[in-house]
Formats: sequence, C-alpha cells, structure tokens
Amino acid sequence: MSLRDVLRIAPGAAVNLESIDPNGTPGLPKGRSRDKAWARAQLVAIGERLAVAQEQLFATAKVSQTRPRVLLVLQAMDCGGKDGTVRKVAGTMNPQGLTIVGFGKPTKEELEHDFLWRIRKALPPPGQIGVFNRSHYEDVLVVRVHNLVAKRTWQSRFKRINDFEASLVRDGFTIIKVMLHISYAEQAARLAERLKDPTKYWKFNPADIDERAYWDDYQAAYADALARCSTEDAPWYVVPANRKWYRDWAVATLLDETMGDLGLRYPPADFDVTVEQARLR
Ligand code: AMP
Ligand code: MG
Repeated sequence: MSLRDVLRIAPGAAVNLESIDPNGTPGLPKGRSRDKAWARAQLVAIGERLAVAQEQLFATAKVSQTRPRVLLVLQAMDCGGKDGTVRKVAGTMNPQGLTIVGFGKPTKEELEHDFLWRIRKALPPPGQIGVFNRSHYEDVLVVRVHNLVAKRTWQSRFKRINDFEASLVRDGFTIIKVMLHISYAEQAARLAERLKDPTKYWKFNPADIDERAYWDDYQAAYADALARCSTEDAPWYVVPANRKWYRDWAVATLLDETMGDLGLRYPPADFDVTVEQARLR
C-alpha cells in the first residue's frame, strides 16, 4: 500500500480531523513507527530521487510539446510547519526547477481581483515544481472564519476551486495538496519556542495567539474544504505533523510516489552521439 492510499482524503468522503492523530506516524514500515533516525536517513535517499525526477521533468518539458508540471499545495494552521517542510523537502531539489510562492494577506490590488487572480499568476511554468506556502484555500479558510466575504461567496468557491484545479490538470499539471495537521497543544509549544528564542522573534506574530481562539472554527473550515475539494484530479492528503521528522518523510514520500507515476525519463538524444563525438576536435 502506498503512503498516498494511507493519507488521501477519499473524494466525496466526510472528513473528521479529530479522528486523525497529529502525533501519529501512519505508513512507516513495521518497527519504524518511532524511528526518527531511519526516517531522516530515508529523506536523504528520497531527496536524491526527487532531484532526478525534477531534472527529468524539466528536460521533458524542454524537448516536448507537452506542458508537464507539478504543484504541491501546503496548508496548515499557524506554526504547522509549512516553512520547515519547504526547507526540508523542496530543499532536496535544484532551486532552478522550483517555483516557491507564499501567499499572505492579499494586497489592495489583489483584493480588487477575483481570488484566483494572484494564484494564476504564481503557477509554475512547464517543467517546474511549484510549491504553494498557503494558497487559494485561504479563501475558504481564514476568509470564512473571519467573515471576510459573504457566506454565499465562500461557499461558491469550492466549485470554483475544483473547476480551476481540473483545468490545470488538463493543461499538464499534477497536483498534490497537503494539510500539515498539528494539535492545539503543539501549536502552543511552538509559539512558546518562538517566544524563548530571540532568533525566532521575527516569526512571532501576536495575532497568532488571538487566532487560537478560532481553532475549532478553523478545524471545521479545513474539514469542509478537504471534503469538498479532494478530487481524483487533485487529491488532499492529511499529514500528521507534530513530529517534524515524520512530516518531512511523509511529504517527500507523497511527492516521490506521485512523480514516480509520471513515467519520467531523460529524453534521448535527437542527434547522432557518435557523429558529435567525432566532430569534437
Ligand atoms: P504567514 O504565513 O505567517 O506569513 O501569514 C500569512 C497570513 O496571511 C496568515 O495570517 C493568513 O491567514 C493570511 N492570508 C493568506 N491568504 C489570505 C487571504 N486570501 N485572505 C486573508 N488572509 C489571508
Ligand atoms: Mg504566521
């Protein structure tokens, strides 16, 4: 069984995040479920495969008429580990092949456009792996929790998002959406860490503590978004993320399994290798 089968939200299924243990380590081999050293070593090996796959994707897009690309969407509560995941998982690949974009509070200009406007502009070009640190899903999460638009507006976005993602898949995208699932207590511990460490003050936002009051609303909004927008085309995965070593292994593995399905290879020479060798004097 693949890790994708273990962590995927089945399309159309209801989602109960309370039934998913943020401390869990599902999908690790027998005897390795608490083996941090093993998972860290695996991450190195998986990273080497990802680097090759990414180069093959890049090379394929360069020589073919197709427009293959991958989009990894990362969503999480504050302190959920999105930045760490980008560093550890995307960090295994060639930066030239990556399009990494973070989405914060929309600018005035962005607010004047449809919510997908800034997303479309940030999509990876053919041959690239895009990583979204937050995404269009904020427009059915924070926006819903804080009533930033009318209910009928955010409700209409689930279908908009599904249609949008389906259109991307038709255009050559492979989409993987990951929710990093931490617990309320783990979030407090990570905020406390930030407050203890002067090198982390820049990451601390006093508003994050106020946001904790909305924890249950966020969890409900996540559950709804995952249930409505996990599709065959663009599945959602929930990765238990209290343990960073598991989180990194799991996200890398999801990417590795998904890219493994793309049948990537290095394009053959479109010239005569022997002739070129002979010409080289
Ligand atoms: P950070 O990830 O710490 O840089 O924080 C980014 C902030 O931007 C978070 O508080 C998000 O909730 C907020 N944000 C991201 N997208 C949106 C959006 N579409 N509408 C409102 N707030 C957003
Ligand atoms: Mg923040």
